[in-house]
Amino acid sequence: MTDATKSPPAFPAAKLFVNGEFVDPSDGATFDVVDPTTSAVCYRAPSASREDVERAVRAARKAFDEGKWATTSAASRAKIVRRFGEKLLERREAIALVETYENGKLYRDALAEDVSAAAGALQYFASLADKLTGETLPVRGDFLTYTLREPLGVVAAIVPWNFPLSLAAWKLGPALAAGNTVVLKPSELTPATAIMLAECARDAGIPAGVLNVVPGLGAVAGDALATHPDVDHVAFTGSTRTAKALLRASAESNLKTLSLELGGKSPQIILSDASLDEAVEACVWGIFSNKGEVCSAGSRVLVERSIYHWFVDRVAERAARIKLGDPRDPASEMGPMVSSRQLDNAMGFIARAIDGGARLVVGGERDESGANGAGYFLRPTVFADVRVGSELEQEEVFGPVLACVPFDSVDEAVRIANGVRYGLAAGVWTKDTARAHAIARRIRAGVVWLNTYDQFDTAAPFGGYKQSGWGRDLSPAAFDSYTQKKCVWTRL
Ligand code: NAD
Repeated sequence: MTDATKSPPAFPAAKLFVNGEFVDPSDGATFDVVDPTTSAVCYRAPSASREDVERAVRAARKAFDEGKWATTSAASRAKIVRRFGEKLLERREAIALVETYENGKLYRDALAEDVSAAAGALQYFASLADKLTGETLPVRGDFLTYTLREPLGVVAAIVPWNFPLSLAAWKLGPALAAGNTVVLKPSELTPATAIMLAECARDAGIPAGVLNVVPGLGAVAGDALATHPDVDHVAFTGSTRTAKALLRASAESNLKTLSLELGGKSPQIILSDASLDEAVEACVWGIFSNKGEVCSAGSRVLVERSIYHWFVDRVAERAARIKLGDPRDPASEMGPMVSSRQLDNAMGFIARAIDGGARLVVGGERDESGANGAGYFLRPTVFADVRVGSELEQEEVFGPVLACVPFDSVDEAVRIANGVRYGLAAGVWTKDTARAHAIARRIRAGVVWLNTYDQFDTAAPFGGYKQSGWGRDLSPAAFDSYTQKKCVWTRL
C-alpha cells in the first residue's frame, strides 16, 4: 500500500444535494454499498425517493427559469465550472480512494482515469462556454435573420458505475457550461463519489439549484427523472436495456430528448502484417483494463488465420500473468468485478460459451487469492474458436472475458466486426496504413483506433453507432446534446 491508500477512505455524509443544500432523504431510506474487494458493506448511501427527485427537479427548474445561470455571461459560467474542476483536483486522492472502495478499480486508474479526467473534462467545457455562437443567415428578402444557441433547460444525467466520475463530468461539463441546470443520479453501486462531486460544486460556487445530486435506485429515482414532465433532456450512459426504458418513458411523458452512450461488443482486427507485439499488448489491456468493465472494451479479437494460433497463445500467456489483487495495492494489475451480480453474470456467459463449444484457453474461474479469499475476482479469461453468431461473440459481458475468432479475408473480418447490434468502437492493426484507413471507413462504429486502442481525449468525440447510442460525448460536438437553435427573423 502507499501512503494514500493505507488508511480507510473518508466517505461523505449520506445526504442528497438539493437546491444547494445537503439534506436527508424524505423517508430516511438508505441502501448498502459493498466493497467488491472484501464483500463488506463500506457505505450506507442515501436513497432518493420520488418526492426527493420531485424537489430536485423543482429546484433545477426554478434555477433555470428564474435564476441567472442561463442568462449570465458565458465567461462567468466558465469561471465557476473551471473552479468546479479545480476543487475536484484539490481532493483527487480522497475521491479516488472512495472510488476504489466502491468500484474495485485500481487506485491509480481511479486517480488518473476518473478524478483527473473528470476535472479535465469540466475545465475543457468551461473553456468552450464563451465560444458557442449562433449564425447570421443569408435569407431572401429584407430581413436580418440569425440563430441563437440556447440551453435546453433541466437536464437529468443518469450515469453508471464503471467510470462514475468521468462519465458524470462528460455530461455536467457541457450541460452546465451551456447554461442548463442538472439533476445527477449516480449508479446505486457508486453513489459516494457523486456526493463528493456535489461538495466540490458547492465549494466552487455553483448557485443553488443549478446542480442537484440524488443517489438512488434506478427503478425509483432514475424512473422518476425519466418520466418527469419538467425534465427537458436525459443524458444517459448505461445499458441498452435501460436506454429502451428511458425512451418509453420519454414517449409516455413529455417527449424529452435523450443522449445515449450505451454498450458495445467492440472488435480488434489483427492482420498478419501488424506490429504483433504491440497488438498483443493492446488486445490484453483492451479487454482486461478496469476488469473488462469498459463500454469500449475490445471484447472480440479477430485474427487473420495465418497467425491466429500464435497470436491467441501470446494473448493468453500474458493474460495468465496478470496479477489480480487488492486495487489499493500498487502491485495489483486488476481488481475485482464491481459486484457479485456482475461476477455471476460473467460466470454465466463463461459456462454457456463452454457448453456451446468455444475453447477456453485461460481463466474462466473465480480467483480467491485476491483479498483473503473474499471479493468478486474473476481470472482474466480468453476463449478461442468462438463461433460467429454465438452469444459470446454477440453480447456484451462487461467483464474480463475475451472472445477470439479467426478470419480468412479482410471482407470477412469487416463482416464479423459489423455483425453485432452494437457499434461503439473498433481497433485495426496493420502496417499498411492505406489498408487501415480503408477498413476504418467500412467499420460501423463511432470510434476506430488504428494501430492503437482505447485512446481518449476531451478534444475527440466519443459515442456509438447502432444500438451503442445517440449523440456524442466530449469535443465541441457534445454541445449538440445540450443546446438548441432558435431562429430570429427581424424585418428591416
Ligand atoms: P444500467 O443501465 O443498469 O444503469 C445505468 C444507470 O441507469 C444507473 O444509474 C441506474 O440506476 C439507472 N437506471 C437503471 N434502471 C433505470 C430505469 N428504469 N430508469 C432510469 N434509470 C435507470 O447500466 P450499468 O450496469 O450501470 O452500466 C453498464 C452499462 O453501461 C454497460 O452496458 C456499458 O457498456 C454501458 N456503458 C457505456 C458507456 C459509453 O460511453 N458508451 C460507458 C460506460 C458504460
